[in-house]
Amino acid sequence: MKKPTLGVLALQGAVREHLQMVERCGARGIPVKYPPELHLCQGLIIPGGESTTMGRLMTTYGFLEEIRSLVAEGMPIYGTCAGMIMMARRLVEGDQPLLGVMDITVRRNAYGRQVDSFETDLVVREIEEAEKPFRAVFIRAPWIESVGPGVKVLAEFDGRAVLAVQGHMLVSAFHPELTGDDRIHRYFLRLVEERVAG
Ligand code: GLN
Repeated sequence: MKKPTLGVLALQGAVREHLQMVERCGARGIPVKYPPELHLCQGLIIPGGESTTMGRLMTTYGFLEEIRSLVAEGMPIYGTCAGMIMMARRLVEGDQPLLGVMDITVRRNAYGRQVDSFETDLVVREIEEAEKPFRAVFIRAPWIESVGPGVKVLAEFDGRAVLAVQGHMLVSAFHPELTGDDRIHRYFLRLVEERVAG
């Protein structure tokens, strides 16, 4: 099979680490700075960063509508941290531009400002070698407060969902691009390959 191309939205945030991970998984990774570049991609990653800034830039550049319609047509999409916030249909508080494509409710900065960031070992279902823990880095992270009926939770931390999938849409509250464990990127790549294969 030809290498799929995965785009990483490159307006703001942790772009380079995702591109490296994508290449490591054997796919081609390209930074996406303008909406027409989305059409070169078979899948899209929305990185972590600051969701209010990202939402503002996405509105200015005309990304929101374009991504919504591609995702509605079935393009696989994966949001990490701020990217997960962007993909949520609802936030517990606050009003900011969202893609709103996935049936989840998300709480921003859920772990409190005192514990800005932390690492922990998670049990992640459905990835390769799922019996091996996944080292997860949380940075001013959100959590998933509740999920709709079509959403499957793949990992929890402290009783809260932190990794979930709904069809071709994947979200994580943490940053799997920072630890060198590529199993979650591989899981996403599988969603892309399934879609490419039809
Ligand atoms: N706290 C950020 C926000 O609310 C997300 C942090 C991150 O992406 N690491 O947008």
